[in-house]
Amino acid sequence: MLDHPLLNLLLPNHCPLCGVDVGDKYSLCQGCWLSLPTLSSQLCGRCGEEVTMSLANGCGHCQGVGVMQDRTLCAFPYEPPISLLLLGAKFADKSRWGAMAAHWGWARLGRELQGLQVDGVVPVPLHEERLRKRGFNQAALLAKPLAKALRRPLLTDLLFRPVATLPQTRLDRKAREANMRGVFRAQWGERAVAEHLLLVDDTMTTGATVREAAAALKKSGVGQVTVMVLAKAMRDTARYGG
Ligand SMILES: [Zn+2]
Ligand SMILES: [Zn+2]
Repeated sequence: MLDHPLLNLLLPNHCPLCGVDVGDKYSLCQGCWLSLPTLSSQLCGRCGEEVTMSLANGCGHCQGVGVMQDRTLCAFPYEPPISLLLLGAKFADKSRWGAMAAHWGWARLGRELQGLQVDGVVPVPLHEERLRKRGFNQAALLAKPLAKALRRPLLTDLLFRPVATLPQTRLDRKAREANMRGVFRAQWGERAVAEHLLLVDDTMTTGATVREAAAALKKSGVGQVTVMVLAKAMRDTARYGG
């Protein structure tokens, strides 16, 4: 996998999937762009869960677990080449990786994101220890260029994860919910509390992580929280992230 062309993000102006010349630094060629996977099932607009029918105030899952975000936008299903892009961050130049991930997400959701008029952009944080071990937070790498595109502040010191948790990948759905409960805190300090924030994460599986992060933001007085994730693991492939 290390020699997958997608991981070679050092060739500007070349399509990262097939290598042909393209005008744009982070863009795919037209053929590769058209071949990117699209979400095959309908997702609940509020929580991002797969649903058979969308309801105005969220789905049964929203009601059951008490979803705190107002809406959830997903750009892609967690499938190649999106999954390869996400797994490849650790091998790539971090700011280039963030720019590319944001560029692809923006191409799918940019218009919708602009229409929402958010006041700021918040990446889902990692616990301090995990951040130190890993060296970077993928959600923050993705959120930075999105904040720039939206011309809104990137708020990296607002949301904290004071509680260390077990890696979500080894847990089933029920255990993931319990593992994430109450792990985030939002601290505004002297700042005025924002009315509407965009909460950004790279992947979403059960949605427990973004739900808890949204809950902390709401608890701190934020009026509206919109969640944006680059990739949603669909039920049959739900193995990654939180
Ligand atoms: Zn291409
Ligand atoms: Zn829902």
